[in-house]
Amino acid sequence: MPLPTVDPDWEIRATAFQTLEWLVTRHGPTLAWDVIQRGFDFKDQHLHFATKARGIFRPKEMRGEGPLSIKTIIPRGNRPVPYEESQKGVGVFVYKLQGNDPDNRDNQLLQWAWKWSVPLIYFYAVEVGVYQPIWPIFIRGIDRERLECTLSVDDEVLAERERSVPMVADARAIEIRRQYVTVQAKRRLHQSRFRLEVLRAYEQRCAVCRLPRPELLDAAHIVADREETGDPVVPNGLALCRLHHGVFDTDLMGIRPDGVIELSQSLIETRDGPTLEHAVKAFQGQHIHLPRLPRDQPGQRFLEARYERFRKVG
Ligand SMILES: [Zn+2]
Repeated sequence: MPLPTVDPDWEIRATAFQTLEWLVTRHGPTLAWDVIQRGFDFKDQHLHFATKARGIFRPKEMRGEGPLSIKTIIPRGNRPVPYEESQKGVGVFVYKLQGNDPDNRDNQLLQWAWKWSVPLIYFYAVEVGVYQPIWPIFIRGIDRERLECTLSVDDEVLAERERSVPMVADARAIEIRRQYVTVQAKRRLHQSRFRLEVLRAYEQRCAVCRLPRPELLDAAHIVADREETGDPVVPNGLALCRLHHGVFDTDLMGIRPDGVIELSQSLIETRDGPTLEHAVKAFQGQHIHLPRLPRDQPGQRFLEARYERFRKVG
C-alpha cells in the first residue's frame, strides 16, 4: 500500500492555494467567476481552478486520482442556498455527489480524495456567478445512499495519520503547518461570513461617507473581536471604507451611541490638505448611515462600550 504522502499533485495544490491567497487579498473574500476562470500559473503551464460546467474538477495536468476543486452547482433559475442552511456547523458543509451513481468517474475522484485526505478547494456559491473559495477543505465522509459527502475545514483524519505514520524527517513542522492552515481556513470562513452579512446590511456602502465600492469596504467590528463581547454579528458590525475603518480603529473617530460621528480633539486641531479636510473632518457631527432593517442596525450595548473606549483614549 502506498504511503499517504503520495499525492503526486501536492505542488500544484500548493501553488493553487497561494494564488487564491493572493486573489482574496486583492479582491476580497468572494470572487467573481471572471476572476476564478483566469486560472493560475504552475511552472511553465497555465492551469484552471475549475470549469464552468462541472462541479468536480481535476486539471488534466494532474497525475493523481483526486480533484483539485469542487464547486457548488446551482440548478438553472435557482438561487444559492443561504449560508446557514448549507453549513452543518462552522466549517462543515454538505456537498451533493455528481449524478446518481456514487461510483461514476467524478465521484471516484472524491472517493480518492477522501481515502488519502487530500486538501481541496471548495468554490462555494454565494450568489449566481460569485464564489467564496474555501481551502484547504477535506472530505470527511461519503454517504452513498443520500448521494452526498461532508466537507470540513478541519481534518482530523489527516492529523491522525500524520501522528501514526512517520512520513518526513520533520513531522512536527508539518503538524504546525497543518494546524496553521486549518485555523486560518476557519478564521477566513468566520470573517468572510461576517463581511458578507455586514456589507449586505449596509447595501455595499461605507456607513460614514457612502463610498459604494465593495472592494474598498471592510466589515469593521464595533467591539473588537479579540474582546469577549466582540461577537461577529451584524449589530456589532459597520461597513466602513478602508480610510474610515482606519480612523475608527485607531480611535481618531468615534461614534456616539445615537449614531453621531465625533472626531478626536487632536484630529480636529490638525490642519492639512483636502483628504483630511473633506474625507475626514467634514463628517464631524454628522450621522452615520444605518441599515434599513432595525435588526441589522448597530446594537446600543456595542456602541456604548466602544464609545466609552473612544472617550478614554481621547
Ligand atoms: Zn468611508
